[in-house]
Amino acid sequence: MHSVLRIWQNLQKFGRGLLNLALPPRCLRCDDDLSHEAVISLCLKCTQAIAPEIAACCDRCGAILPEGVIPAECCPACKDFSLKFDAVYPLGHYEGALRELVLKTKRLSSEAVSLTVGRLLAERLGEKLAKFRADAVLPIPMHWAKRFFRGVNSPELLAGCLAKKLGIPVVRTLVRCRYTGPQKNLLPRERFRNVRGAFRLRRSDQKRWQDSRLLLVDDILTTGATCSEVARLLKQAGAAAIAVAVVARADGS
Ligand SMILES: [Zn+2]
Ligand SMILES: [Zn+2]
Repeated sequence: MHSVLRIWQNLQKFGRGLLNLALPPRCLRCDDDLSHEAVISLCLKCTQAIAPEIAACCDRCGAILPEGVIPAECCPACKDFSLKFDAVYPLGHYEGALRELVLKTKRLSSEAVSLTVGRLLAERLGEKLAKFRADAVLPIPMHWAKRFFRGVNSPELLAGCLAKKLGIPVVRTLVRCRYTGPQKNLLPRERFRNVRGAFRLRRSDQKRWQDSRLLLVDDILTTGATCSEVARLLKQAGAAAIAVAVVARADGS
């Protein structure tokens, strides 16, 4: 059954590839024509609407700061939480056109949207992330049931785009061993409790991360509870530094 599904998915991909060769590429958001050389399937106007330049972020949690506020070691959004990662790099704030696009990546068969978001993330954050000097990119794993029903694993596609840009490997060392339910209905403190113990490392990788610098990738970061739990696990396994690249930084309330 699994191999039949795989063949069908490959046939669909092949068909889409042929169509892309025949038709001029179009903007994924407004359907405007794009040049054949366009790396990202978005026109300039939509790119600006989706990811306007960010003035400044909190160094620790990636919260987007109002113009004129100087970034500091922490901010009102993260001062009450013990976060185990070292830095967060967001593409933008979870609102407006970026929110629309992120929600599209959560729909069935949204591979093309996720890849577009991933390429935009890599283009915008590539230079900053290169300075972090990560050894590997690790997508935050989805629970198998969620992955099955959605058909697309957005963090994994995002990780692939960043890894290509940075010239480092994607490593699938993390396993989500417990379904945690949607975090959005929980209070900030409950989110940290909810994800405690929800991940593990593959047995063969237990000693692999000594002194490593790792880049986690996810689509939305709100309180940072999920990424912090994964960072805790990796630091316990010896990782030296952990950064998080995220498409959208949402307000945690
Ligand atoms: Zn457009
Ligand atoms: Zn902060």
